[in-house]
Amino acid sequence: MRSQTEYLWFKTPRRRDYINITPRVDEVLAGSGVKEGLCLVNAMHITASVYINDDEPGLLQDYDEWLETLAPHEPVKHYRHNFSEDNGDAHLKRQIMGREVVVAVTAGKLDLGPWEQIFYGEFDGRRKKRVLVKIIGE
Ligand code: ZN
Repeated sequence: MRSQTEYLWFKTPRRRDYINITPRVDEVLAGSGVKEGLCLVNAMHITASVYINDDEPGLLQDYDEWLETLAPHEPVKHYRHNFSEDNGDAHLKRQIMGREVVVAVTAGKLDLGPWEQIFYGEFDGRRKKRVLVKIIGE
């Protein structure tokens, strides 16, 4: 069995951002030599997500507005978690957008659906954070 582990780093200039990381995961897969297997991609921070959906600008804005409706950043004192920081909303946003995705590897490619793309969702940016990519297979 082959395996490949790599870490992708992010430091978004904005507090919240949605980044299509499919090309970067594709690069890790190409370097792994795996033709048949599984690819795990997970955010390593509790205020960021990895999820799969459409890369369509309207949808990204819809996500952002929906998440702000569910867990608005302001007022920061609304969250008990914010006794020493201001990211209580980011923890809740991360929970609903998820921690990780698993994608099948078939014939050396990510076996995604027609419009599926892998995204890094940042909810408390402006500092360095990591995403783990682990690929196992033959
Ligand atoms: Zn926190």
